[in-house]
Amino acid sequence: MELIDTHAHINVEHYSADRAAVIERALAADVRRIINIGYDLPSSQASVALAQQEPLVWAAAGIQPHYASSTTAADLATLRELLQQPKVVALGEIGLDYYHDRAPHDQQEALFRQQIELARELSLPVIIHSRDAHTDTVRILRDAAQDYPGVMHSFSGDWEYAQACLDVGFYLSFSGPLTFKKAVELHEVAKRAPLERILIETDSPYLTPHPYRGKRNEPAHVRLVAEALAALRGVDLATIAAATTANAERLFTRLKGNSP
Ligand SMILES: [Zn+2]
Repeated sequence: MELIDTHAHINVEHYSADRAAVIERALAADVRRIINIGYDLPSSQASVALAQQEPLVWAAAGIQPHYASSTTAADLATLRELLQQPKVVALGEIGLDYYHDRAPHDQQEALFRQQIELARELSLPVIIHSRDAHTDTVRILRDAAQDYPGVMHSFSGDWEYAQACLDVGFYLSFSGPLTFKKAVELHEVAKRAPLERILIETDSPYLTPHPYRGKRNEPAHVRLVAEALAALRGVDLATIAAATTANAERLFTRLKGNSP
């Protein structure tokens, strides 16, 4: 059995004391690949560096909407270079964040669209972060990324929003909150979404699943997300592992062929 954690941030300082042990535990939990995600230029650079040094790790690079006001043309040129490095499989995470709301919405949209364009030029799939911005996210994706390969990372929302994302052609990626008893809306989405459009992730160090809630998350726990998905859909863990791994390889085409 093979699991892929399609979204983690293990380059961050939370893991500086025990990163090797974290990767060992992931392996022991059948996690064979981890996609480490950048959210600004320094984290994207760290992500690519980590991927080049760890056989289990692949990288994504991108600039989150928080930095929409300060991102320059030179930054985008640096990002373009990074995206062409070995083991980079996607552009992300990018999108809109009206919850933290650290940049004006028109600037968030502009940076989002610029990076979708960059992804198209480099033929890379996109990883979308959307918080409290569902309507605008769907509007922009319909306009700029209809049928373009991409994933709604750590999906949260109701079935109607899920359908809109599926209609754009995107995958839905589930994370720790799927294991929470009270996440009824999310459970419904996880039951109804087509199996061939589902991914799993941890978003480590955030969104720790039950029963480790409140502690630091880590890629090994993607297995708990897969187990929750299996229970909700009434299938076994091996079925979920096989499907989500195949889905990740279909979306992130550069993941294929170099499995350690
Ligand atoms: Zn993330």
